Amino acid sequence: MSKRLLFVIIVIGALAGLGYYLYRSFRPSIGRTSNLMEWFRNPDAHPDWALQAGVRCEEAPFIFPTDGYIGFFWDDSFRIGHRHQGIDIFGGTDVGLTPVVAAYPGYLTCLPDWKSSVIVRVPEDPLQPGRQIWLYYTHMADPAGNSFISPEFPPGTYEKYVEAGRLLGYQGDYSGDPNNPVGVHLHFSIVLDDGQGNFRNELEIRNTLDPSPYLGLPLNAKSSVGKVIVCGK
Ligand SMILES: [Zn+2]
Repeated sequence: MSKRLLFVIIVIGALAGLGYYLYRSFRPSIGRTSNLMEWFRNPDAHPDWALQAGVRCEEAPFIFPTDGYIGFFWDDSFRIGHRHQGIDIFGGTDVGLTPVVAAYPGYLTCLPDWKSSVIVRVPEDPLQPGRQIWLYYTHMADPAGNSFISPEFPPGTYEKYVEAGRLLGYQGDYSGDPNNPVGVHLHFSIVLDDGQGNFRNELEIRNTLDPSPYLGLPLNAKSSVGKVIVCGK
């Protein structure tokens, strides 16, 4: 075989591999994006797509933390190499209207420079007793960073106990860039502890847990086939 032919075969193989990787990575996310566009256009036409705050699916340890349509799952991809570390729940309302509640009891912190986020320390993972986990709730501010977090939890709050169902704030569209807000939603994720009593960097998927068993819903992007996920009965 000539070197040139070998080179062509290697290039074709690499392109096919890249194409397959992109297809696998983005196909579910693209399907969910089109559904989400439909939800944004007319949420009232799809009341059956939404879950309600406080609902417990199956025998899950967590209650659902807000009202809305689950637009993106854990491990969805928004761009090459990106893996979504949590789930995005879109209320279908304007900012500051859709309540966000604690999914599980724990100790709430809002760091001094946080405008739109809180994190709740859960000393005992209900599905793996003996380890500590953290529940992160974000996008609770408007594009300019005006917070919709409950006034009970101002920036600089540390270790305030909250029971499940406690109002934490309201969905917003804060992205950090006032000119480029996100769609109104709650991003919710389960973050691992670093073993020293601190939460790990939430931006890395390897520092987070698949929320599926915690919420009793199939929320893993790579194994879930459905675009619309609701409580199974
Ligand atoms: Zn998100």
